[in-house]
Amino acid sequence: MLSIARKILKSDEQFFILTKICFGILFSYMESNPFENVLKQLNQVKEIIKIEEDVHTCFLGPQRFLEVSIPVKMDNGKVKVFKGFRSQYNDARGPYKGGIRFHPDVSRDEVKALSAWMTWKTAVVNIPLGGAKGGVIANPKEMSDRELEHLSRGYIRAIYKFLGPTIDIPAPDVYTDPRIMGWMMDEYEKLEGAHAPGVITGKPLSLGGSQVREYATAQGAFYALEEGAKKLGLNKNATVGIQGFGNAGKFIARLLEEAGYKITVISDSKGKAVDCKGLDIGKVEEYKTEKGSVQGYENVDEINGIKCLHQDVDILIPAALENSIDEEEAKKIQAKMIVELANGPITPEADKILKEKNVLVIPDILANAGGVTVSYFEQVQNAYGYYWEEEEILDKLKKTMVNAFNEIWKKKEKYNTTLRMGAYALAIERVAKAMKDRGWV
Ligand code: NAD
Repeated sequence: MLSIARKILKSDEQFFILTKICFGILFSYMESNPFENVLKQLNQVKEIIKIEEDVHTCFLGPQRFLEVSIPVKMDNGKVKVFKGFRSQYNDARGPYKGGIRFHPDVSRDEVKALSAWMTWKTAVVNIPLGGAKGGVIANPKEMSDRELEHLSRGYIRAIYKFLGPTIDIPAPDVYTDPRIMGWMMDEYEKLEGAHAPGVITGKPLSLGGSQVREYATAQGAFYALEEGAKKLGLNKNATVGIQGFGNAGKFIARLLEEAGYKITVISDSKGKAVDCKGLDIGKVEEYKTEKGSVQGYENVDEINGIKCLHQDVDILIPAALENSIDEEEAKKIQAKMIVELANGPITPEADKILKEKNVLVIPDILANAGGVTVSYFEQVQNAYGYYWEEEEILDKLKKTMVNAFNEIWKKKEKYNTTLRMGAYALAIERVAKAMKDRGWV
């Protein structure tokens, strides 16, 4: 192609500019391609633990990748065809497990990457499940309830043969919720001709959902945070900053306030609420419900010369989107600990800076694994047809998170590395062991 361009373009300068643009596009694609990041992370882990070549080869792509077209008759009478994906990355440790995302930016590589991260997440918390992820390119905010229901049912019909409580168990993710899980479960059961609530988790309580599931992600992160705080000798006087005040951010704010921590700053996509004396979370929630954002709530960002913005707090909790902490941000951060409630909130470059600054980062594959852990409890309850009280689930979740934290801490110490690399090492060793024991490698 370049040789054709060479002939068409008249001057060397034009040719040089075109080549630069082409390579620029290629490199920026590679940099932003999430599955490339998965592969890079694997190479990093290879520097600290031995991953056999055959095992590594199996991790170069998902075991199965489904791409489906879902026709939906829209309210205007016309049929629109939606593109859907399901990536089943690895099921050596148990049935595939992972959420379904409905979002306009869903892509094949994003779904593949998320399915790999689910595999590591279930392995870190040591629940007997593998990793998968699903996605549909759609914008639910622009769809009616009827259209959304038809899309949800259509997606399940398209991938039905590859789902099941012992095969692959979806759950909610970005822009999908318990109501959608209810429709999906119903569609699966109609096709199966039998009740099978364990086919999907994150269901409404009326359909076999679990207590705690609604706030499980934040609760799990809270237990991990408390373990990290113990290691660093941080007490309840520690100041906390939260980036993002959606599902995850709201619940962790409530839990931390209840436990006595001082949350001085909370931001959302439009602005921030700051109070160096500590925010009243109930009031911030009320304000956000009324105004649609935390912007303008309080703005006391300095007291007796001491600042209390995100870069100043002792514990920082990113709970918004990917890549929210970049190199510039990392340089300013004074926090002793960062708890990754969001998936992938720290860019690899920022991660290096935080390592040099000796900031303890509790990685996403542990910090937000409370959600999938309680999903697993939901499945167990569905299998037994017997449901546990909230207290019992909290107790089991705490044990799971504390054990996982301690195990990755041991790996961190053993390999003299970060907690993130400790978590990857633990997860990959567990998946590789299951693959070996099955005789795959
Ligand atoms: P959400 O959509 O409910 O909330 C996201 C929040 O981030 C919103 O308050 C939004 O205003 C805010 N935000 C967006 N851009 C921002 C910016 N530039 N600065 C500050 N805030 C910004 O989403 P959620 O369910 O709370 O998920 C948040 C993160 O946690 C995601 O990375 C998600 O993958 C991860 N996560 C969530 C769960 C869960 O159970 N909700 C489970 C595992 C992981």
